Amino acid sequence: MAYIKINRSNLIHNLSQIALKAGSVNKIAIVLKDNAYGHGVGKIAKIASNFGITKAVVRNYAEAKEIEELFDDIIVLGGAIIPSPKLSYAINSIEKLISCPNDTRIELKIDTGMHRNGIALDELQIAIGMIKDKNIDLVGVMSHFASADELGSEYFYQYKNFQNVKKIINEYGFDNIRFHIHNSAGILRTKEFKEDLVRLGIGAYGYNPMDSAFENVELKPVMSLFAKKVSSRMLLAGQRVGYGGEFTAPKEITVSTYDLGYGDGWRRGDIKQPYITPSGKEILGRVSMDFITLEGDKEEVCIMEDANATAKHFGTISYEITCALHANINRTIVDA
Ligand SMILES: *Cc1c(COP(=O)(O)O)cnc(C)c1O
Repeated sequence: MAYIKINRSNLIHNLSQIALKAGSVNKIAIVLKDNAYGHGVGKIAKIASNFGITKAVVRNYAEAKEIEELFDDIIVLGGAIIPSPKLSYAINSIEKLISCPNDTRIELKIDTGMHRNGIALDELQIAIGMIKDKNIDLVGVMSHFASADELGSEYFYQYKNFQNVKKIINEYGFDNIRFHIHNSAGILRTKEFKEDLVRLGIGAYGYNPMDSAFENVELKPVMSLFAKKVSSRMLLAGQRVGYGGEFTAPKEITVSTYDLGYGDGWRRGDIKQPYITPSGKEILGRVSMDFITLEGDKEEVCIMEDANATAKHFGTISYEITCALHANINRTIVDA
C-alpha cells in the first residue's frame, strides 16, 4: 500500500520556528482543517498538543469533536453551531449572528478587504448591538489576509482596517477579547508580532508560502509520500506503457507498476510534462486510477518529499497537493 510518512522532528522544528516569531507557543492556534491539510488530523493533533499547543482551528463541529480532548480552545470556522464550552464559532455574517443561539462563544469575523467572508466594517455597530442583546459570548474578533504572501500594499491596508476594528471594539467596552488576523504568511512576514494569536496552517506543515523577496524562515516539509511495487516487467524497444500507450520504451528496460494513482488523490497531470520523483525517476505514461509506472524494480519508491516542488510541477499550490491525498492512505510517524 502507498503510504505517507509524517516527520515528527520536522513538524516540531516548524512549530518552534513559529513560536519564536510569535513570542510564545500560547499564541499559536494550529489549523487542523481538512484532515490537517491532508497530513492526518489525529497524528498531527497529538504531536502539536504534546509540543504544548493548546489551541486549534477546524472547519466544522465534526472536526472539532475529533480533536476536542487534546486542546483547550478550538475555533470552528463554519457549519452548524452547536454551543460547547471549548468551541468558539467564527461568525461570517449578520444572518449567522441572528441565527446564533444565545450564550454561544463566537469569534466575530470582519471583512477587512478579502471580500470572501465576514461582516462589513459598516455592519460592526449592528453586530455589537446584537451580541449585547442576545447575550452572545464574544471571545474573539478575527479577519483574514487575502495576500499576505505577496509584496504590495493590500496587506497593510487590511492590517490598518483591523487595527481600526480593535479600537472600535474596545470603545464599546469589551475586554478580554482576542484579536487575530495572521495566517502563516502573515506571521512569516512580521518582524514584531503584537497580535494575540496566529492561525498557523501551511507553515506548520513545512511550506513557506512567501514571495522570495521576504526574509526566509527555514521550514521543513512534514509529509513524504511513498508507493510500493505491484509487479515488474521487461519492455523491448518500441513497447508502450499504460492507457493510450503514451510512453514508448526507447530501448530494452525494466519497468514496475506502483500502487498509487489519481484514485488516491495523486494528480493525473499533463502527459506532455511527466512528473519526476525526488530520485529523478519519471512517471512513464499515463497515471491510472490506482497505478503508476516507473523504470526499475525497487520495492518502494519515494514519490514526493516536498509538496511545494510537486505543486510547482502541477501548476498549483502545496495546500492543494497535500489536501488531495485521501484519508485512507496509511500515515506513519517517523523521527528523523
Ligand atoms: C486556512 C485558514 C488559515 C490558515 O492559513 P495558512 O495560509 O495555511 O496559514 C487561517 N485562517 C483561516 C480563516 C483559514 O481558513
